[in-house]
Amino acid sequence: MRYAQLHYSHDNIPVGKILCIGRNYADHAKEMKAELPSTPVFFLKPSTALVYDGASIVLPTISSDVHHEVEMTVLIGADGKNIARSHALDHIAGYGIGLDMTLRDIQSIAKAKGLPWTLAKGFDTSAPLSTFAPSSSVPDPHALDVELLVNGSRRQHASTSSLLFHVEDLIVYISQFITLERGDILFTGTPEGVAQVQPGDQLVASLRHGDGSTLASLKVRVQ
Ligand code: MG
Repeated sequence: MRYAQLHYSHDNIPVGKILCIGRNYADHAKEMKAELPSTPVFFLKPSTALVYDGASIVLPTISSDVHHEVEMTVLIGADGKNIARSHALDHIAGYGIGLDMTLRDIQSIAKAKGLPWTLAKGFDTSAPLSTFAPSSSVPDPHALDVELLVNGSRRQHASTSSLLFHVEDLIVYISQFITLERGDILFTGTPEGVAQVQPGDQLVASLRHGDGSTLASLKVRVQ
């Protein structure tokens, strides 16, 4: 069992499903030469993909092109099915930052064959995850900054105002198909700047308010 941790809380929340969204920033869809989706593109990672602050990402020997994708993450705090847009944010316990590590070479083969991305996206250590800032400290989840530094250099940076599908839309859409449960996590998609990582790289990801104050951060090393 893996757990999610909310700031200022001693609750360890068991993690259920990890639901990830692809192509949710226009500039990233462009760099991947992918069309903009008309409905959200979802895929799943297993909870065994999770690692936490201070951990290592273990590069699978089967891949020679592993990419970082920094993403705002959302912790679901209340169960729901067919959730109305006006109540969507009420189902969120907190906001954090995560990395959707991707075996780009394996994913490209799957895409070319029209096959699922599961193994390219769900391998062990593919989901480094921060602790979560309580949703009460986030008046607007679309007024935040996501950033990734690799060895101290900024590689990815965007405002969540650029999300194609807002968090409410993602919750409405997915809950028509899949019941959301307390402990589920959403990865909300990556902005442009995805690139290959190398053994020894240090990755520092953060989620910030517009004034620069940090809501959540994560530091991992590539092994
Ligand atoms: Mg992603």
